[in-house]
Amino acid sequence: MADIAALKSRVDAAVASDTDHLIGISRQIHGRPELAFEERHAHDLLTGALEDAGFQVERSAFGLDTAFAARVGSGDGPLVAILCEYDALPGIGHACGHNVIAAAGLGAGLAAARFAEELGGSLVVLGTPAEEGGGGKVMMAERGAFEGVDAALMIHPAGLDLARFGAIAIQQVAVTYRGHAAHAAAAPHLGRNALDAAVLGYVNVAALRQHILPTERIHGIFTDGGRAPNVVPESASTFWYVRSPTVAGLAALKERVMAALEAGATATGCTVEHEWQHPAYADMVDNDVLVDLYRQNVERTGRTLVEPDDQIKVVGSTDMGNVSHLVPSIHPTIAVSPPNVPIHTTDFERFAGGSEGDRAVIDGARTLAGMVVDLWVDRSLLTAVKEDFAAARAAGRASGRASVLTGS
Ligand SMILES: [Zn+2]
Ligand SMILES: [Zn+2]
Repeated sequence: MADIAALKSRVDAAVASDTDHLIGISRQIHGRPELAFEERHAHDLLTGALEDAGFQVERSAFGLDTAFAARVGSGDGPLVAILCEYDALPGIGHACGHNVIAAAGLGAGLAAARFAEELGGSLVVLGTPAEEGGGGKVMMAERGAFEGVDAALMIHPAGLDLARFGAIAIQQVAVTYRGHAAHAAAAPHLGRNALDAAVLGYVNVAALRQHILPTERIHGIFTDGGRAPNVVPESASTFWYVRSPTVAGLAALKERVMAALEAGATATGCTVEHEWQHPAYADMVDNDVLVDLYRQNVERTGRTLVEPDDQIKVVGSTDMGNVSHLVPSIHPTIAVSPPNVPIHTTDFERFAGGSEGDRAVIDGARTLAGMVVDLWVDRSLLTAVKEDFAAARAAGRASGRASVLTGS
């Protein structure tokens, strides 16, 4: 077998030689935040860099303007996918640090590509738009982006170096109540108040919250509450995120949430319509063999990887969860801020674009490229990865599909 230590030294040297380039790309994406499905600047930067390095690049891949697939290697060895996210958040820019994901993924791809021919492996760097709503990865999966992929790797910045991100299943629902308009002073008895229906629905959900799992989340806002106080509102709308640790748990919770919301309409003589937004995000099924491989490689960079527990964790939802139901995957976090600075805050946005974000780009690139080389060199690793995934399928933890819960 190849001298793995020597290969890793060459991986590190390859990433080191790209340091300025990668940090430049991270900073450029950070400095020009683009929202879901509008990430043209990031798409062009990343595809240009991959093409310059000899990758076979497909721009606007899988029918999505800002998705891409960049391939290298033709050997019969494992096909590894490295995922790059690059969308930002409305109003707070790169407060989820996706610039770090993009530049680390690029750096890993550029470094690993140098070994593809020598080790007989293949690599695809996938540009996956719209993680913060839209579910680019789900659409890409439905259109074949993960066919033949043996392992899907990415990192996500956070306040901690965690082996796993507490990614729980989520679906969003838009709810509209309809009543009858009437003059609120002259003829209120003729009105049926859609805002009252929405308020009661909201309060019902608040009551429901005491009796759900501590790991479940329901949170909503009002998106329409009428137009004038002297007109009984004939329509009112709310918008909700419903989250549960598993897809099965989410299906059950959705029914209870809808019962609470519909009761508001019943009480007020209004009607209610709802639309579950597609796609739902699935929970994350971490591949333990890949997590171990990540640990070995990230600890090479001087970081200490921590297993999350009740106190130390980062909880959210991601479309990488859907990918993890389809192919063996990981979604570890890499620290770019102190632990008390949560993602999706303006403070975190500053860390993602600062020197700690830069360091995570380089460490992330070294780690993921090291994993790719490991998988290419030692084919027994892939066997173990597949066995772990098969066990998750057999136990019903992984569904084998990227699309879940399309409606009802
Ligand atoms: Zn986010
Ligand atoms: Zn994110």
